Amino acid sequence: MSLDQTSYRGRFAPSPTGPLHLGSLLTAWGSWLLARKAGGRWLVRIEDLDPPREVPGAAGLQLRTLAAFGLASDEPVVRQSERGPLYQAALDRLLDRGDAFHCHCSRRTLAANGGVHHQCVAAHAIDHPSVRFRVPPRTRLEFDDLIQGPVHQDVGSEVGDFVLRRADGPWAYQLAVVVDDAAQGITDVVRGADLLVSTPRQILLQRALGLSTPRHAHLPLLLDADGRKLSKSLACAPVDASDPLPALRVVWAALGQDPSAHAGAASVAAMLSMAQREFDPSRIPGQPVAMPSLPDTSVTRRP
Ligand code: GLU
Repeated sequence: MSLDQTSYRGRFAPSPTGPLHLGSLLTAWGSWLLARKAGGRWLVRIEDLDPPREVPGAAGLQLRTLAAFGLASDEPVVRQSERGPLYQAALDRLLDRGDAFHCHCSRRTLAANGGVHHQCVAAHAIDHPSVRFRVPPRTRLEFDDLIQGPVHQDVGSEVGDFVLRRADGPWAYQLAVVVDDAAQGITDVVRGADLLVSTPRQILLQRALGLSTPRHAHLPLLLDADGRKLSKSLACAPVDASDPLPALRVVWAALGQDPSAHAGAASVAAMLSMAQREFDPSRIPGQPVAMPSLPDTSVTRRP
């Protein structure tokens, strides 16, 4: 994996839906390590666009937890809830160009087509329609992910016209993430592999808006001991900000790094400086990783 040494700008963009768990720590630290390895900057952006899914106080807690793990944004933290005018300007541009359209279809009317929108089927206009991005049939997209390799998606048939602003008001993640990555000059999008499926949509939006496409690196998902994506297991309990080292060791191993490298690292600062020195991006696995065994129960603490 070759990383640009001069202008790398990466980011970690959590949604404030709860405390950070091992999976989110893996994304945070993985994106930080790749940015540091490239001599670049690492930014934190709070993706607070969907109030019903958010937990009051979670954003502040996430930032305090990151700080306890030695991970601080190199620039002021940006919050998506404060950036509506930027998203509106992008949406207006797409509407003006005919790349986006108002849509009166409901989830129910689209159910017959597996929820995929190819053309409007609503019988009645609604007061507050959603806005969708137009995806012509046979729109196929291909990109090279630095960790996952070549990725292909038939966006026309698998995704269809996708939502940019929901009928109930909120901006869609796909639009906001593209606008913010461009506005923040992000060169490298590093995030969990669960978002791989979103990337082709974001590339289509970048092209329609005349924005450059960043490099992508999708980090492996953590699986619990039974091979399921972390859900209700101990592994998705909050990481313990009062005792960061055990969780950092687990994530280091999950990122495919040499466990013997942190032998003498007895503080967060020592662990991070060892990690910057020893981190080898080519060891990051693409496949999901079964969570390395917990050294003791202090790694995580239930709320
Ligand atoms: N906010 C998204 C999440 O927490 C991540 C978005 C991204 O990294 O593009 O899953």
